[in-house]
Amino acid sequence: MRKRIDFICPTCKNKKRITINDEYNETHIDKILDRSLFNIKCDKCNTNIYLDYKFVLKTPNYSLSYGEFEDVDRMCSTYDDIKEKILIYEDKLNDCLIELSKRKIEHDLEKELDLRYDGIVEDKLVFYSLKEEKSYSFNKELYDYYVNKYKVVNINNEEVNSSNYFKYIKD
Ligand SMILES: [Zn+2]
Repeated sequence: MRKRIDFICPTCKNKKRITINDEYNETHIDKILDRSLFNIKCDKCNTNIYLDYKFVLKTPNYSLSYGEFEDVDRMCSTYDDIKEKILIYEDKLNDCLIELSKRKIEHDLEKELDLRYDGIVEDKLVFYSLKEEKSYSFNKELYDYYVNKYKVVNINNEEVNSSNYFKYIKD
């Protein structure tokens, strides 16, 4: 749905009315990931601003939302979370098992890293640490081992994150 909102520039307080969309599809993925979809420029002082608003992404294969929307596979509560889910779903991975992999990595390194999945490079899964602001990569074997070992229950309209993923994983 298209919505008109009032926008006030944080730099010069210029007020303007802009139109935002809160329903996106697969053609918008690149612009969601690089945030250009949410970037606007104040036409008075040229300040670049990133808007932060709730939206839903519906593709033929999955649906995700930032904020509460009905009938989605996963709900996310931050932009970083939905960005990570998009990358996981685009790479056809399972988010619960990615969370389990992250837990194992943190456990082995004995560090809290606040990792976010960032993609596959060759045979390695790349994670970005929001805490350390650097990337870590790990052999995909760990994830594949979990895929073979565990079953993940079907989940809809839920938020899956590092504090609840284990509820959905069965032996
Ligand atoms: Zn301005």
